Amino acid sequence: MSKYQCKCGGLILPDFDSFKLADAVNCMIETCKSIGNGQVIVRQKAFVGIITKIDGDKFTIEGNSKTHIFERGEFTPIKAPGPIEYFRIGKCRCELDKEQQA
Ligand SMILES: [Zn+2]
Repeated sequence: MSKYQCKCGGLILPDFDSFKLADAVNCMIETCKSIGNGQVIVRQKAFVGIITKIDGDKFTIEGNSKTHIFERGEFTPIKAPGPIEYFRIGKCRCELDKEQQA
């Protein structure tokens, strides 16, 4: 996982173009639970899924005992950190910062 850790402290994004059928991928689902008073708890759950169908940028992924449809970029290769880690640690901003300075 170290090759995904950047010196800036962020996580380097994986290659989102290399997915193939039957690849194992890290997925994340969010469930919202109402606790009253208009307050909602969002819970994130990570699971490993298998790509069973690719239709352009839409991926059918089996995992967590269900079939999910994810868009490209919403899940990561099995060797990369999962979406929850990108969410919590943050993405590498080096490329972005470089562009802004140019
Ligand atoms: Zn970086």
